[in-house]
Amino acid sequence: MARYRCHGVASEAGFGTHTASGHEVGQEHLPDDERIEPMLTKSKTDTDSRNSEPPLEGSPAASEREMVASLALDVARNPEGFAIFTDFDGTLVDIAGRPEDVVVPRHLRTDIRRVRALLGGALAIVTGRTLAEVGRFLGKGLDASGLHGIEFTFAPAAGQQPRAGDAPRELVEGVVKIVTADPGLRLENKGAIIAVHYRQAPAAHGRLKVGLLDLIATLRLDYQIKEGRAVIEVMPRGQSKGTALLEFMQRTPFAGRRPIMIGDDRADEDAFAVAREAGGYGLRVAGEHFNRGDEPFAHAREVRAWFATLAGRMA
Ligand SMILES: [Mg+2]
Repeated sequence: MARYRCHGVASEAGFGTHTASGHEVGQEHLPDDERIEPMLTKSKTDTDSRNSEPPLEGSPAASEREMVASLALDVARNPEGFAIFTDFDGTLVDIAGRPEDVVVPRHLRTDIRRVRALLGGALAIVTGRTLAEVGRFLGKGLDASGLHGIEFTFAPAAGQQPRAGDAPRELVEGVVKIVTADPGLRLENKGAIIAVHYRQAPAAHGRLKVGLLDLIATLRLDYQIKEGRAVIEVMPRGQSKGTALLEFMQRTPFAGRRPIMIGDDRADEDAFAVAREAGGYGLRVAGEHFNRGDEPFAHAREVRAWFATLAGRMA
């Protein structure tokens, strides 16, 4: 898979080494939390019976959940009318203590590819991870944008010049100094983006944020910070998951379709805005960032079930 970069920016997590077999498995072999509950056929009563405190009739939570179930039906009936974009961490896979420790459930690779086939190819991964990591976790052959709109699996349109650039050395050295001063902070150098994870050191968040902002100001770099779930990323200004979506939407087979973006973090909001502007949907997954209780998906597990349901439509 050729890899391209263009000028870029926006937030989220790391890298990893786990891979999945990609084999389709019967549900009897799955752990309880990976069994698929078909959302297309789920009645209100079924939904409520799973929760100790079921949403009230007509509550936002109930209506959002019904909306994504009916959206799956719309997609299944009219697949050429939709394009699906999805984040990776916290959306397709559960957040792990360390980004490299996320686990890709065995059926996920297959389901994603079936849905991609259903949509005639109009499915893309839009993530803060590098494309190399996307390939490692989900396998080759999927369209993707990595590093928050900096990398693409295709050559971006004219006007978006490839950006080979790693972060300037003085910036990397400065971030290393900040991270070293606070035990528990973890630096992840993704090339153009430097991420600092503070999941193991939540009390350091304030110091970290101030330190990174001071560093960027002192070095007078055209960089910004973006906060995500237990991570602050230092990245060049200009690109985001929103600009990534715009790039895809100019291309076949994405162009002219109604975009659906699914994500769990602040950086995904840029892409939600673009999707909604184009007459589509921004679907939130609950977590540390989205936590009002009315998210269409309460957990990455429900996103996987949604994809499985769509994938089943292909069978
Ligand atoms: Mg995420």
